Amino acid sequence: MTTITFTYLPGDGIGPEVGQAAIAVLNAVANKFGHGLDFEEHLIGGAAIDAGLKPLPDATYAHCKATGAILLGAVGGPKWDHLKGADRPELGSLLPLRKNLNLYANIRPCKPYAALIDHAPLKRERLEGVDFVVMRELTGGIYFGDKGRDNLGAYDECRYSEAEVERIAIKAFDLAMTRRKKVTSVDKSNVLETSRLWRETVIKVAARYPEVELEHLLVDAMTMHMLTRAQDFDVILTENMFGDILTDEASVLCGSMGVIPSASISYGTLGMYEPIHGSAPDIAGQGKANPLAMILSAAWMLRLSMGMDTEAAAIEAAVEAALDGGHTTGDLGGSLSTSEVGDWIASHVAH
Ligand code: ATP
Ligand code: MG
Repeated sequence: MTTITFTYLPGDGIGPEVGQAAIAVLNAVANKFGHGLDFEEHLIGGAAIDAGLKPLPDATYAHCKATGAILLGAVGGPKWDHLKGADRPELGSLLPLRKNLNLYANIRPCKPYAALIDHAPLKRERLEGVDFVVMRELTGGIYFGDKGRDNLGAYDECRYSEAEVERIAIKAFDLAMTRRKKVTSVDKSNVLETSRLWRETVIKVAARYPEVELEHLLVDAMTMHMLTRAQDFDVILTENMFGDILTDEASVLCGSMGVIPSASISYGTLGMYEPIHGSAPDIAGQGKANPLAMILSAAWMLRLSMGMDTEAAAIEAAVEAALDGGHTTGDLGGSLSTSEVGDWIASHVAH
């Protein structure tokens, strides 16, 4: 029997509510596919501070490191606004977790669901059939380079080593192998030396994946192609700053932030999975939170940390069915509570 083993970090605000819904769905998946389910719940962020601990307690970090698969709700809220620097829930927990676990690859899928297409600002024909994933390098490039001021003005250094480009490219090609087998690499190689290294390295990695089609696009052109021919993309591979900009552009195509999961991954199967939305303190504790982004984050955990593609796809199909049938929370026009949506998806997975 395979066991689904992970660390569950409910966190703050709506985190525990959407988390509970995701756990219900994971239970259904384990039952349906005959897997064991083995997780521990740990404190993080404001919830840890309220318990008299650091934002990232030692026991939490140790368990995350041991399982290598982390499902996170959300962290932070106005209650802890008076705290400063590393005492703050977000700065003191998420950043060290990402840094210490070397989560160098960030993934955000973009799949405008049929039922939500009319929420998005683009015309239906531009969105139908769109299903791509952005693979963004997260720990290198200009955001991490030397920066400062001198007598000439200001500077930000952009650096990439071949090893940094190679490892993120491998992630993109591995992911493409589980999908439609196409990688679009985005750079600015007509101008930037880091982009030239990027392109050369991606071409070398591509040679190890003869089944995967490789396309190169310049980042300025990409911003346009993402809006005019988004259907053509499968895995979009890009460096840190370009990825930051492109993932925000991509999220607009999806119509609602309540349905977008994310994954931050590292070597091997190590990964942290969380919705892109925050702790939504304005609706916390009311059963109003949309749990779909969290449930889809759990699906990505199964896919990337456990290699369970079929199980992940079963969750994604159930989410699509819930959207099609209007079994949703108020933000998407439905009348169900957070846990009712979770239960609906769990029972859909079970059948
Ligand atoms: P953070 O800094 O933690 O990312 P934020 O300021 O970006 O937080 P969110 O917590 O993401 O804000 O909330 C933004 C708005 O979206 C709020 O009005 C919130 O209620 C709503 N919202 C966020 N997540 C959900 C959800 N899962 N279901 C329903 N509404 C949500
Ligand atoms: Mg936010």
